[in-house]
Formats: sequence, C-alpha cells, structure tokens
Amino acid sequence: MADKPFNAFKMAQQQFDGVADKLDLDQATRDLLRNPLREYHFLIPIRMDDGCVKVFQGYRVQHNDARGPAKGGIRFHPQETIDTVRALATWMTWKTSVVDIPLGGGKGGVICDPHNLSMREQEGICRGWVRQIAYNVGPFQDVPAPDVMTSGQHMIWMMDEYETIHNGKYPGFITGKPLGVGGSLGRTEATGYGCVYVMREALHEMGIDIKKTRAAFQGFGNVSQYALELYAKLGGTPICVSCWDQQDQESYTFRKLSGINLQQLLKITDRFGGIDRKQAKELGYEVIEGGAWIEQDAEILFPAALENQVTSETAPRMHKNVRLIVEGANGPTTPEADEIIKQRGIFVIPDFLANAGGVTCSYFEQVQCNQNYFWTKDEVLAKLDTKMTDAYLKVSALARDRKVYMRDAAYMIAIQRVAEACKLRGWV
Ligand code: NAD
Repeated sequence: MADKPFNAFKMAQQQFDGVADKLDLDQATRDLLRNPLREYHFLIPIRMDDGCVKVFQGYRVQHNDARGPAKGGIRFHPQETIDTVRALATWMTWKTSVVDIPLGGGKGGVICDPHNLSMREQEGICRGWVRQIAYNVGPFQDVPAPDVMTSGQHMIWMMDEYETIHNGKYPGFITGKPLGVGGSLGRTEATGYGCVYVMREALHEMGIDIKKTRAAFQGFGNVSQYALELYAKLGGTPICVSCWDQQDQESYTFRKLSGINLQQLLKITDRFGGIDRKQAKELGYEVIEGGAWIEQDAEILFPAALENQVTSETAPRMHKNVRLIVEGANGPTTPEADEIIKQRGIFVIPDFLANAGGVTCSYFEQVQCNQNYFWTKDEVLAKLDTKMTDAYLKVSALARDRKVYMRDAAYMIAIQRVAEACKLRGWV
C-alpha cells in the first residue's frame, strides 16, 4: 500500500480520530479537539538590505489552551504551510499533556529561508512577527520558542520587541532564550537527553542491556547530537548518523561500525547539522549516499531529522534485528509505515513522548524566570529525567494493560487529560 500524499495536519487528525474512537469521546469534544481553537495569519513587510520591501507570510496557531497557555516553537522555513503549523500545534497539545505540564499547544511560522537572509533582515522578521500578534501571545496566553532554523538570538529579538510594546519585563513570554537573559541551563541537551531517558526505560522493560545495543541515527542536529552523546555515555554503540547536503539536495549516511566519535564528528559539522564528506572519509567513515541509515544492522533506530521519513517504501528496508524505534523528530513515521512496524512487532516510543524533553525544559525555563531564581544544570537534568521517566512508565503501563500500541497509549493519556480539562472548564 503506497503512502497517501503527505499532509501533516490530515495525519494528526487521522491519529486523533482513531484515539477518539478508543476513548469513546462525545461529538462536541471531537469537534473541539480535532481543530485549532484559534489561528492568526498575517503579513510581515520588511525593508531588505538592498532597499526594496519584501512581504513575508506569518502564522500562529493556538490549538488548545485548556490546560494552560499555548506553547510551541516558531519555524522559519521556505516550505512552511498553514497545515504544517496546524499539525505541529496539535502535536504540542498532546506533548505537553503526555508529560503532564500545565501548558497547551501552539505553533508559529514564517515562510522564509534564513539561508538567504542577513541577520538584520531576520531581526526585522522577528520583530515584525511580534508586532502583528503582541496582544494575542504572552506568558499567560501563548508562549513561543525556537524551532527549525530559529535560535536563542531570534527569541531575544522577539522578547525585546514584546517588552517594548508592553512596557515591562516579561521573560516568561518566550523560551529558548540564551543563558544570562532568562535562558535555562540544560535546554540545549534537553530534547536529545530526554529521548535517551525514555529509551533507557524501554530497554530496561524489554530486558535488553544498552551496552549490547547498536543505534542508527537519522539527522545530526540538536536532537541527534545530544541523544547520541548520552546514548554512548550509557554504553551503547552509535554506528551511523545521516545529514542533508544543502548543495547536492541529497542525504548522506556516515557509518563507522566500531562506533562514532561524537567530538571528532562535531569538528567537521556546520551549524545546520551538515557534515563535511571529504574530511569524514579521511577520518575513516564510510559515506553512503541516500537514506541508508534505515537499513543498518542495529537494535535501535533513531529518526531525528524531519517528518515523513519512515514510509511504506523505506520501512520494509529496516533490518530484522531492529527492536526499538525512538522517534526524535516530529511526525517521522507515516500511518502506512506505522502499520508495517506494528506487524513486525517493533517497539516504538512515539514522537510526542520521546521528544517532549525540549518543551519540558522550556516549562522549567518559565518556572525559573517566574521565580527569578535559576537552577544548576544537574538540577534541571535531574528534574527532566524524573518527568520523562514518569511519563514513559505511565504510557507503557497503559499499553500493556489495554494491549494497545505505544502510540495509541500515549495519545489516549494525552487526549483524555485535555478532554477532561475542557469538560471541567465547561467548554463541552
Ligand atoms: P536541526 O535543524 O538541528 O537538525 C536537523 C538534522 O537533520 C541536520 O543534521 C540535517 O542535515 C538533517 N536532515 C535534514 N533532512 C534530512 C534528510 N532527508 N535525511 C537525513 N538527514 C536530514 O533540527 P533538530 O532541532 O535536531 O530537530 C530535528 C527534529 O526534531 C525536527 O523534526 C524537530 O521538529 C524535532 N524536535 C526538535 C526539538 C528541539 O528541541 N530541537 C524538540 C522537539 C522536536
């Protein structure tokens, strides 16, 4: 069966519908939760460095805020669409709920390509985005954060604009800020480490010694690098990573069966997570063109690049030794590929549980900003471990008790909590 044309929002709704049936949700709750509560579409005119004015399309979607202010990143991407933003906002609602933090789900974006924009032009887009929406976001309404191709620098420009408009200090307006201006220690590591905390628990439940495992990583950006670091520290052997080559418009897999040396590879990696092929070969890596990461002889697969990567075409190529998939990326697996994985009995830690470490640490950042007292890195990571482990154990217990797929169990817990909050508020 071929994969349906990919539309992330349709996929998010399809996943929701399946779980709504399992939970026997009433029609009003379904109508409320399968669509965003609010959407903002706006234009951001920017005077470019060459003197001309260019108009960019911006979005903010607040999917649900019954459990607390909406929360979610802002992407700068040339292929951004409103449906991608809607899907990501929906997944944020389930993500904040599954780890039980008092936040809802939102997401934002601007259609642009930062590769072709100067920093001054990017600053203009950040400030313009905030000017268009300054009264509909904020610490008690909707809290943005960085996402693909946005960073701590973008967040600080946005916070500065917000504080100028509102004439006060509001560090809780946005997260992912640099250290020293309201940022939290541990945020850089949080998503990747969070993936490994839940991976560790899953391997423990499966009776597999992490020291006897090999893992193949797709992507070599923020999530993948830190996941690989902690996985190797716990004794696992990372045998390959892959990345996207902007110039060739092609992906490459970098393999070393004896184990990847992270520090060595980082030295030849650019800030977008792209690896220099020539230097990698000199360091003894096999460089394979295309998506070879998925067919490696490894116990663990770690898709941590982007959505729609494990498909009905690529999933059958997974090696017979694969026991566990940890979805570091958002939406890496199509529904058709999910069926193949289910049939093969491979254990999956679904995206919105596996990669919830990032938003959990963002929540810690807000808490620290509100109390104006900052924790040490060890304190942050210990709290993160507790939150992630607790969330994982609740989901895996439900999956066992109700004999359901892990993704369904995670959705059941997350959706039930949001539905309950909507009901208690008298919305449905
Ligand atoms: P990043 O931009 O830092 O890195 C992405 C990596 O994927 C790069 O190495 C890039 O070269 C590689 N890549 C892109 N397309 C590829 C392809 N087709 N094949 C192989 N490699 C490819 O991004 P990130 O922050 O690490 O995020 C990765 C994923 O995790 C995204 O789906 C993101 O939404 C999700 N996520 C990130 C965070 C976070 O805190 N960073 C939190 C939750 C979810």
